[in-house]
Amino acid sequence: MRTVQSRTELAAALSGAARPLGLIPTMGALHAGHEALIRAARAECASVLLSIYVNPRQFTTASDLAAYPRTLEADAALAAAAGVDLLFAPTDAEIYPPSEEIRSVDPGPLAERLEGAARPGHFAGVATVVTRLFDLVGPEYAYFGEKDAQQLRVVEWIAAQRTSAPRISIRCVPTVRDADGLALSSRNAHLSAGGRSVALAIPRALDATQAAFTRGERNVGALRAAATAVLADQRGLTLEYLDLADPITLAALADESSVSEALVTIAAAVDGVRLIDERTLRA
Ligand code: AMP
Repeated sequence: MRTVQSRTELAAALSGAARPLGLIPTMGALHAGHEALIRAARAECASVLLSIYVNPRQFTTASDLAAYPRTLEADAALAAAAGVDLLFAPTDAEIYPPSEEIRSVDPGPLAERLEGAARPGHFAGVATVVTRLFDLVGPEYAYFGEKDAQQLRVVEWIAAQRTSAPRISIRCVPTVRDADGLALSSRNAHLSAGGRSVALAIPRALDATQAAFTRGERNVGALRAAATAVLADQRGLTLEYLDLADPITLAALADESSVSEALVTIAAAVDGVRLIDERTLRA
């Protein structure tokens, strides 16, 4: 595996890269979830490029950005072992050259609700960095996790708008969980042991909606209630939102409606750590 930091080194490394090329954008602190993205890319691409860049533009608070784990050495070892060919770990100046006017990229209509509403500017930051990575790397495929289901939809929308550039196919990789059910996240490192067991209410609440759906429950209010019953009285967990949406349009589903599929998303804070998880219910 080669590691490059600058745009120039990246361009040189890419000129000899076998095609198709798969891009996996990450913010580092790699775990088995990222590894699943690497495996998916390895299975269909001749070259695999992993980027590690903690993008300041997608953070809504300076403290969250400062606290984000940075573990480049361990990340490089994991990436090499998982089969990455090229690791791109740029500095801020390589992504956002000070000499350039940085225009914010429109993340589109799917970015309005959920994380878009909870974290104003977040998806514009994601859209801007993803567009820059797409332009710099020019991959045939790009890999994203279902765990950030809205991000995935937003990126699909961005890729579809790029009509004058070569097409990039967006691939979706299912959420990887720890044995106890908690979705793997770089932020889990900040949870205390007690916080971790509190956080398990999130996947349990999602499981409860799945169980109700499997029993034949189709009423949105009843599905929501199944999750609320698990989350209520969960001391130490601050629920930010519990949302049921159309999986394609991300439009909110009214409690009185009856559905054949739904994207259930939970955002909550435990130990001051913001966690997000989702489950798609489908008949
Ligand atoms: P991040 O480094 O958190 O920005 O994530 C980089 C990519 O890995 C994103 O596409 C995430 O959706 C994906 N990802 C993060 N956690 C998981 C997980 N537990 N399972 C699958 N993909 C994940």
